[in-house]
Amino acid sequence: MTTIVRYAPSPTGRLHLGNARPALLNWLFALSHSATYVLRLDDTDTARSTEEFARGIEEDLAWLGITPTFKVRQSDRTALYDAARDRLIASGRLYPCYETENELDRKRMRARAQGKPPIYDRAALSLSEDQKRQYEAEGRKPHWRFLLDGEPVRFDDMIKGEQTVNTASMSDPVLVREDGTYLYTLPSVVDDIDLGITHVIRGEDHVSNTGTQIEIFEALGGPVPRFAHHNLLTGAGGEGLSKRIGSLSLGELRAEGYEPLAVAIVAVLTGTSLPIEPYPDLVAIARKLDLSMISHGPARYDPAELDGLNARILHTMPYDVARPRLAALGLAGEPLWLALRDNLRRFDDIGELARLVHGPVAPEIAPEDRAFIALAREALPPEPWDQDTWGAWTTALKQASGRKGKSLYMPLRLALTGRHDGPELRSLLPLLGRKACLDRLS
Ligand code: GLU
Repeated sequence: MTTIVRYAPSPTGRLHLGNARPALLNWLFALSHSATYVLRLDDTDTARSTEEFARGIEEDLAWLGITPTFKVRQSDRTALYDAARDRLIASGRLYPCYETENELDRKRMRARAQGKPPIYDRAALSLSEDQKRQYEAEGRKPHWRFLLDGEPVRFDDMIKGEQTVNTASMSDPVLVREDGTYLYTLPSVVDDIDLGITHVIRGEDHVSNTGTQIEIFEALGGPVPRFAHHNLLTGAGGEGLSKRIGSLSLGELRAEGYEPLAVAIVAVLTGTSLPIEPYPDLVAIARKLDLSMISHGPARYDPAELDGLNARILHTMPYDVARPRLAALGLAGEPLWLALRDNLRRFDDIGELARLVHGPVAPEIAPEDRAFIALAREALPPEPWDQDTWGAWTTALKQASGRKGKSLYMPLRLALTGRHDGPELRSLLPLLGRKACLDRLS
């Protein structure tokens, strides 16, 4: 049987790290099971869904390295939902309710005052046909609730193990609004059946929905998929990551120059038993990660971890991988890459570092170092230069000047690069060459 998974975002905002987690977990599962990956845009909320957000989501997924097998939009599939709705009405599982929001509020308040849970009392089930006609004559339109059967729903979660959802303590969920539009619950089940979804991998905030949805799967006669509910990424203090935290949107992280692989690794491996470290690509992660490695505790996101990983990925990036990106910045050469990559926090930092090699730089020579720098100029070894040139030069200079440590190296660094820090001079020297060094030491 083919494995089919889906990632089902609502196009009501841009993706952030927390949304990247289910997107990637589904993708890694698809990679390791040769599965079909469906992108399902949950756009039944027409007031908040936009075309621009939908495009943004596809862009963000592509940036992360996710290429869905195909895409569907719930707004194109209303006929399927209508048919399912009619079947549920015919089988008595979907019933019309006429209470207004106000009336429901009052019922909830009354229940609380009596010390009862604020569960819908199913009053609508005992309405006579006459009463319904009367409501309709008053201009009321029904919303439709699904009749839960009250039995505990059990399922074997691929991450969390055996789960029981006690639907008896839940209100019958509204599946269809007064205006005939659908809430998330029913379309999701109808699509999962229609598309043959075999595994539903999503956040643990959906566990109780799963109880309801399994009843709907069964009421519609569809096969029930396997479920896997993962822990949600939280901030350091356990607070939720919200779409509104702009700095964490994938678009922003991208604009800030983070490597998509670093973002993906942090989004998916935080809160798992696999270490957060560089992996060559998503396929390599898919080979190692199993859903059972996802922790049952919270997954706390630490921005410092993303920074650290981003740097480590750059510091170990092979030249072949960097080459096209260097070319786009007008740079080339493996020695240049190897000399500079250890100092990168973001890839594009290389432009500024390469300037230290190619110039222009403003050499800095303090008055008290002038004689020393003149000596250094005289002591520059003849070419060819290599990684050992720096050692030979500074050993000779140490003897000639009596300087050592920082008072030996720093004036050289300042004269050669105009900066207090930067790439190792041992690697820079052969890139600069004797002529440039003579110029900068003048
Ligand atoms: N649109 C839903 C969400 O973003 C999908 C949940 C699901 O995967 O079923 O929460």
